[in-house]
Amino acid sequence: MKPAPFEYWAPTSVDEAVKILSGLDDPGDAKVMAGGQSLMPLLNLRLSQPLHVVDLNAVGGMSDISRDGSTLTIGALCRQRTAERSADVAAAVPLVVEALGLVGHPAIRNRGTIGGSIAHADPAAEMPAVALCLDARMVAQGPGGERTVAASDFFDGFLSTALSEDEVLTAVRFPVDGPGCGAAFVEVARRHGDFAMAGVAAHVRLEGDVIAEARIAVSGVGLTPVRATGAEAGLRGAAPGDDAFAAAAAATSAALHPATDVHASGAYRKHVAGVLVRRALGTATDRARGNR
Ligand code: FAD
Repeated sequence: MKPAPFEYWAPTSVDEAVKILSGLDDPGDAKVMAGGQSLMPLLNLRLSQPLHVVDLNAVGGMSDISRDGSTLTIGALCRQRTAERSADVAAAVPLVVEALGLVGHPAIRNRGTIGGSIAHADPAAEMPAVALCLDARMVAQGPGGERTVAASDFFDGFLSTALSEDEVLTAVRFPVDGPGCGAAFVEVARRHGDFAMAGVAAHVRLEGDVIAEARIAVSGVGLTPVRATGAEAGLRGAAPGDDAFAAAAAATSAALHPATDVHASGAYRKHVAGVLVRRALGTATDRARGNR
């Protein structure tokens, strides 16, 4: 199929993109396009029929990766594959690299962008779960200027975010791993490259041999990625090991109420999420021990 007709815009700056969006009678009639890996199928299937498409690909300065002390900033237009292969990203926020390796296939990651994945906010996608797990901050620019939104406030529903219709996501800021930190992303998908039935991003910080802080986000189990706050609280101050990880797995599963769909039953997703939490915590802790 082909998309319904739309007016095509190709701004060369974020300011221009925002001006185009905010100048429309209804900015809700427009869709911003980054890599097109989610938007184009939606347009071609006519599941989305915007009157305007604002293509960001000619906007300069939105693909950079930079580090400023304890923050790594990835431009929203940075291709997923570029971030995945970046030594700077691997050194600062290895969870991003591991998760990106699970996003679709290389051909998709060659076009798909970091910002597009996060703005699209598919609850089964890897990057929203990573952003939530790491407390990333989203940088948005709109007619009123720039603002940052914490990941915990960003994902507010199925394929829905705190971005308003005349805002552009310009960058994502991730906290850099320090000493004693380790992280892992694990998931269960029917085939390599498929959206996972469930996935878990886990991040731990050890002090001595005690878990000083644990963060867990689960994908594929709700309308948004879900933070396992109960499990995290139970891990704080605990000795890492099978008992603590099994308790975290049980707490995570108990707090989830995933729906059944054609891909998996809710009960299966609930169970798998717990299994993945245990695995992810084990790997994250091993990595944290090697990072002291
Ligand atoms: P687009 O498709 O261009 O845009 C997606 C949405 O985000 C649109 O609503 C658009 O308006 C909005 N948007 C994009 N950028 C911005 C911005 N800067 N500011 C404001 N709004 C913006 N993803 C996974 O996570 N895991 C997978 O396993 C996976 N498998 C896939 C398999 C296939 C076969 C395909 C085609 C895609 C798959 N994807 C998967 C999706 C892929 O990761 C997309 O690249 C990503 O979801 C969207 O990024 P994009 O840059 O292509 O955004």
